Amino acid sequence: MKNLKISIAHLYPKLLNLYGDIGNVITLIKRCQWHGIEVEFSQINVGDSISEQDLFFIGGGQDKQQEDVSLELLKNKEKFILQRDKGTVFLGICGGYQLLGHYYQPHNKDRLEGISLLDAYTIAGNKRFIGNVTAKTDLVLPYTLVGFENHSGLTYLQGDTKPIAMVSVGNGNNGVDKTEGAHFMNVFGTYLHGSFLPKNPHFADYLIELALEKRYNDKFILPKLDDKFELSAHNFLVGRAY
Ligand code: GLN
Repeated sequence: MKNLKISIAHLYPKLLNLYGDIGNVITLIKRCQWHGIEVEFSQINVGDSISEQDLFFIGGGQDKQQEDVSLELLKNKEKFILQRDKGTVFLGICGGYQLLGHYYQPHNKDRLEGISLLDAYTIAGNKRFIGNVTAKTDLVLPYTLVGFENHSGLTYLQGDTKPIAMVSVGNGNNGVDKTEGAHFMNVFGTYLHGSFLPKNPHFADYLIELALEKRYNDKFILPKLDDKFELSAHNFLVGRAY
């Protein structure tokens, strides 16, 4: 994959990096290197301007950090929507995922506005969903996604926003409709910490392919890497609640 490049920006890593969600960014950068793809990497912190990117990542965090990030995201809502509509890839984890939707309503606090890249909304529930998750997806092969969830938010999908997977172990978006995560165009959200991408290398390469497609306006199928360790970790978790 010579002479290919993608830009990756990590949104508000100092505020939203619960459970080491930065591991997703490390995975994307490392896998690009293994594929021979150059990466222009940047971190976006409070007060920074937003430039066009091929891929944005935003991690999870507690309600307080989400409040601060919500205010920052809203300053650039129209820019993010324009980039979504041009095919930019977004991956949001848990709290970051919630802010990619319309809003997150915490307990006994003002609603946190999101940037509506996803037609979804989140309301704080009365219990925390904590534990391993296995979910069945049709986006990538192998058709499973694994991770760890820890959230009280209950997320509901609307319109053309669809889940990335259906839960077979764990709770996912709301513990009722069996959906996990969300996607619309190239915007993806998931409740899976772990961090998510190291144990789901197939999904990581899928996102890199989409980012390449956005930048070069062409389809890309990445060659398979030797993922025996990654998939061993993945398969160890498939079906496990504890
Ligand atoms: N504060 C949000 C919730 O509890 C998100 C938590 C997280 O990012 N793990 O649902």
